[in-house]
Amino acid sequence: MGKRIPFEEYYPINEEYKRFDGRKTAFSIKRQLLGAETFSYTKKVWDKMRAGAPGFSHPDISFKNAANTSDNHDGANTGYYSWEPLGVSVKPDEVPRWEKTPEEHAKVVKKAGQYYGAVNVGFTKMDKRWIYSHDSNGKPIVFEDVETGYINDEKIVIPESHKHVIVMTIPMEFNENSYAPTPIEVTSNMGYARMHVTAGTLAEFIRGLGWNAIPCGNDTALSVPMAAQAGLGHVGRNGRLITWENGPLVRICKVFTDMPLLQSPPAPSGIIEFCESCEKCAKHCPSQSIPYGPRTYDPQNESNNPGPLKWYCNEQSCFDYWHEVTTGCSICFRMCNFTKSKGLSHDIVKWFIRNVPQLNGFFAYTDELLGYGKMSDPKKYWDTPFERS
Ligand code: SF4
Ligand code: SF4
Repeated sequence: MGKRIPFEEYYPINEEYKRFDGRKTAFSIKRQLLGAETFSYTKKVWDKMRAGAPGFSHPDISFKNAANTSDNHDGANTGYYSWEPLGVSVKPDEVPRWEKTPEEHAKVVKKAGQYYGAVNVGFTKMDKRWIYSHDSNGKPIVFEDVETGYINDEKIVIPESHKHVIVMTIPMEFNENSYAPTPIEVTSNMGYARMHVTAGTLAEFIRGLGWNAIPCGNDTALSVPMAAQAGLGHVGRNGRLITWENGPLVRICKVFTDMPLLQSPPAPSGIIEFCESCEKCAKHCPSQSIPYGPRTYDPQNESNNPGPLKWYCNEQSCFDYWHEVTTGCSICFRMCNFTKSKGLSHDIVKWFIRNVPQLNGFFAYTDELLGYGKMSDPKKYWDTPFERS
């Protein structure tokens, strides 16, 4: 299965590190610059429909838009991301809290999370470094000795007792992702919608057992380092979490809780080492937002948080490309060497990547040569029967 190197060794942090300010994400920066125009590109898809652009037919666009249906929340503590119990799973007062060992808690929570929709579920301690210092509107996020978390006009309060984080990877389909960058790449929207349902449902399950739970999507904390720390994968050159099961084809959601849980082991090594030999995403990124060369401590702009040793992608030029193409991009998901359909031959290659890294250069070269990651023909999407991938 390959060796497992502790998270701290793979993701060393220097003294520059400070909690990231949510006002500095590329989304927030562009919102400050463009105001209501921030997401105007999503309206321009209709111009492409009128011009007959492949992948921008009326069904293609409605397919992507409708995938957002259950993503109906407005950030932290709204919708199924509520920090309050939803009143769906309620135990009678006379039934005591379900309190077992951390191993038993982890076993049950993992299986429930997978049933509710996660590909994988990992556990880690609450590491405050990954919690935003402020949310995207500038409200400070603090920890206090309170039983339940809350948000008021002044601050966002996470209880000190929430010492455990459950991180879940949510699937994105290989087939639909292969149509990126067109609206048929519906998997990003669908992933966000599934995150909302899965995290909210798991939080309610935990509350029904008598514990507190705060479900989050992309709000409140940095998902990628939390997921790596919870053993779900490693941080790749494209800045995404890369998992052994689904490559980068996952979204990430998390639940903070006071229920004691085990720390998950690190994911098997091999992904970062492979990215060191492979620059395919950097080469194919249309906005050249993904760096070549080794990992560094050098951020590209204020949307990067300096401190960790990693590949710093330019999230701002990436977001600009979304405006240009008028839909989300996801080319770096489609092109990644770890993005593969399910199959024995790909499992064998992964075994070699974990155990014989000397062959990484060969596999990176042949992946390109064999044409993996090519865009599927959007004109044919609706003519083939649906297949879950
Ligand atoms: S989403 Fe597209 S533009 Fe952004 S980093 Fe990936 S390939 Fe580049
Ligand atoms: S395309 Fe290659 S370098 Fe980029 S994230 Fe995937 S494996 Fe790593």
